[in-house]
Amino acid sequence: MVSSSSHASLYKIWASKNRWSKDLRCECDEPATFSISRTGENSGRKFRGCPYFKKCDFFLWLDPPLLNSHYKETMWNLYCDLVRAKEVKMLLKAFVVLMVLLLVFVVVLVLMMKKLLDQRI
Ligand SMILES: [Zn+2]
Repeated sequence: MVSSSSHASLYKIWASKNRWSKDLRCECDEPATFSISRTGENSGRKFRGCPYFKKCDFFLWLDPPLLNSHYKETMWNLYCDLVRAKEVKMLLKAFVVLMVLLLVFVVVLVLMMKKLLDQRI
């Protein structure tokens, strides 16, 4: 008879070998999420886990620990730069949409004024 703890450890071994698979599922059969640690010693380190952390204890580091604090800080700074770049990209998209709406408004306004001027003549 196989105990549930040995089943769980066999599953963790299998999951570790397949940790980069996008189809990887946690022990409660949910798609394992990709995340980046934002805390202390493991800042910037990628991991996968259960989308409902309290439902099961499925958790895998995707990359090895960084032993040098310089690399940890560099990885964290790169992660922060990536987040800022995504925010800037969203702001630029909003700005472009706003400019297009403004352009449409100005074109409609000019056409209405032209129509009014044509009626007076
Ligand atoms: Zn789970």
